[in-house]
Amino acid sequence: MALGQLDVRPRLVAIQVGDNPASRIYLRNKVRACDEVGVDSEVHHLEAGCSQAALLAMLESLNRNARVHGILLQLPLPEALDAGWILQAIAPEKDVDGLTWASLGALIAGHPVFEPCTPRGVIMLLEREGIVMDGRDAVVVGRSVIVGKPMALMLMARGATVTICHSRTRDLAKHTRGADILVAATGRAGLITGDMVKPGAAVIDVGINRLPDGKLAGDVDFTAVSAVAGCITPVPGGVGPMTIAMVIANTVLAAERSVPARKA
Ligand code: NDP
Repeated sequence: MALGQLDVRPRLVAIQVGDNPASRIYLRNKVRACDEVGVDSEVHHLEAGCSQAALLAMLESLNRNARVHGILLQLPLPEALDAGWILQAIAPEKDVDGLTWASLGALIAGHPVFEPCTPRGVIMLLEREGIVMDGRDAVVVGRSVIVGKPMALMLMARGATVTICHSRTRDLAKHTRGADILVAATGRAGLITGDMVKPGAAVIDVGINRLPDGKLAGDVDFTAVSAVAGCITPVPGGVGPMTIAMVIANTVLAAERSVPARKA
């Protein structure tokens, strides 16, 4: 039965600690996107100097609140707070970002609970474009917990043969030139140039870099690479909006999963 018929409105609660301007913009965009699709959302603010105990208490209260389906801790946290550790306090069934160790462990085991939003958005872009992953060679540049590692696992789960590159990779171009699917997630503007891409490849640019002139750019030299690639995502307007869409999709999923437990 649809959530609307059960009188359940998916609700996402985001926590921002401090006042990082970029985080504020990300959260504003998430709230706006939730409004557009009928998902309730709210942002809880804590002072930059708040204690770890205060943040944990807020997470605990949201975990217990049956009206809250998704909890999102906006990163980065102030340096005094241990983000890696604090994230683990989010209840796995509300971890719509998919970044707790429980969620990541489930992903590695092949039984994802919530797939992390940015890689999930990339997979959806590939699927919607009809790009075959099964049996293809994929290269992921970047090995972060948020993007690179889960991206590689999710491509592998869909049958791709995956190579992960990073800052210690000796000859990056040698690897990227073999990729049918190339995902760049490094935070290095223009790292991927036209001569590093296989003709016809699908190129997904996750990077978001602020240039000295204030403009946003990805990790891929868009003009040069679009002349070689079969398809390519732009920055801005490519993976970024997909990440937000997947936060919402995971929140709706969390709300759906909450129904049998609530009605029992
Ligand atoms: P991190 O800084 O955590 O990781 C960057 C990765 O890139 C590291 O693994 C690093 O290697 C690797 N790297 C850095 N320089 C090079 C290089 N010259 N050659 C090869 N690999 C390199 O960043 P994130 O993964 O969090 O984010 C990556 C980018 O994606 C950023 O621009 C970020 O803003 C953007 N992003 C975009 C999102 C969206 O919704 N579109 C969401 C999340 C992030 P090593 O491990 O060796 O240091």
